[in-house]
Amino acid sequence: MKVVHSIDDFQALRPTLRGSLGLVPTMGALHEGHASLVRQSLTENEKTVVSIFVNPTQFGPNEDYEQYPRRLEQDAELLAELGVDFIFAPRVQDIYTAGKPKIRLEIDQLDQVLCAKSRPGHLNGVLQIVSILFHLVQPDRAYFGLKDYQQQLIIQSLVKELHFPLAIVPCPLVRKIDGLALSSRNRYLTEEEGKQATALSGILAEVKLKRENWKSIAEVHQMVEERLKTVPLVKLDYFEIL
Ligand code: AMP
Repeated sequence: MKVVHSIDDFQALRPTLRGSLGLVPTMGALHEGHASLVRQSLTENEKTVVSIFVNPTQFGPNEDYEQYPRRLEQDAELLAELGVDFIFAPRVQDIYTAGKPKIRLEIDQLDQVLCAKSRPGHLNGVLQIVSILFHLVQPDRAYFGLKDYQQQLIIQSLVKELHFPLAIVPCPLVRKIDGLALSSRNRYLTEEEGKQATALSGILAEVKLKRENWKSIAEVHQMVEERLKTVPLVKLDYFEIL
């Protein structure tokens, strides 16, 4: 496995690769969720590139850009074990050569709902970095997790509307055995916060399981509100049924 930091080096390498190329874009601090995307790419492509880049433009001013876990060495060990061909880990100043980007993508309604409501600019930052990676890596397929469902939808639109010549492959959400979705940010949680996060995922799973019995959406909202009182550390951004 080769670790490539320089954009020039990657671009020199790209035309030498024969056969299909899969890309798994990540921000590193890899876990089993990322590994499942990588495995899928490895089975469907001749070669697989995993990009590791903590993208500053998708973090809000009060978010965790500085403290986001960076652990290239451990990530490289895991990816080598899985059989990945390349890690592409460019430097921030090489990706955003002009500093703050001057081009923004407008996202229409999908930027007004769900996660986007409490994270203004986040999805624009995601589309920016994903477009840059698609241009630089030129993959045949790119793998994204359904954990980030809204992100998945806008990336599908990006590829369709801007005619990127590649296929997006949505991959299943991987959870811990107790139901909590795996996430690089779970390491921020204390033991108690971890317990309550798991309880929250239990509440959502229960709502879904009992959907045959729902009488009205209002009733479900009421039930969730009631259940949330048992997890006081959870600060709710939104609960919606779509
Ligand atoms: P991140 O490094 O968190 O930006 O995630 C990189 C990719 O991995 C995204 O496509 C995520 O949706 C995906 N991913 C992260 N966590 C999981 C998970 N628990 N299950 C499936 N995919 C995941």
